[in-house]
Amino acid sequence: MIPASVRAIFFDAVGTMIFPTPPAADVYADIGRRHGSRLPLDVIVTRFRAAFRAEEEFDRRNDLRTDETREVRRWRRIVGAVLDDVADGEAVFGELFEYFSRPSAWRCNPDAGAVLAELARRGYRLGLASNYDGRLRSVAAGLPELRPLEHLVLSSEVGWRKPARGFFEAVVQEAGVPAGHVLFVGDDPVNDGEGARAAGLRVLLLDRCGPYESCIVRLGDLLSKE
Ligand SMILES: [Mg+2]
Repeated sequence: MIPASVRAIFFDAVGTMIFPTPPAADVYADIGRRHGSRLPLDVIVTRFRAAFRAEEEFDRRNDLRTDETREVRRWRRIVGAVLDDVADGEAVFGELFEYFSRPSAWRCNPDAGAVLAELARRGYRLGLASNYDGRLRSVAAGLPELRPLEHLVLSSEVGWRKPARGFFEAVVQEAGVPAGHVLFVGDDPVNDGEGARAAGLRVLLLDRCGPYESCIVRLGDLLSKE
């Protein structure tokens, strides 16, 4: 599945390499309840999705520019929109923000350890490239399966969110080889698929097929011959 010209492979983080476990809405419900929220889980799920989408639309209107301040504001607004019935919204936000900076809040893709070890053995330059913020550094550092991912490209640090071209230019720069020699593996047809392809990278989408992308069902399929 890996084209012969590829020298570097960069992976999306959330939904590809790592998954919030238990799901984010469960954590919101749990921490919210301790702060007096009475919202049922299904309402939290629906509100979370809507709030997340609204923030992404806000970013698109702002040319996908970002920084660490914007990322903190994103999560403060999402938490506020979801858990609007707690006594101390700022305390709830602080707890949730800190919670998701812990490696223990996340689980790796079950194929991650074996696949990354093998790709490292084959000599690829490996990295993680994410719209998640600076917290990904502490999360990744605490998940041993991800150790072969030596390069980290975070939108809050490079100033552009996926699918902006500027983000993928930063990936190519970090990869240290021309764009056509970089394979991008992700789960989002637009943010990962279209963004990487438009910047000249090769693309593999996990568990989903867009009109142009090759697709794999499991991360482990990366190592299969075709
Ligand atoms: Mg993703």
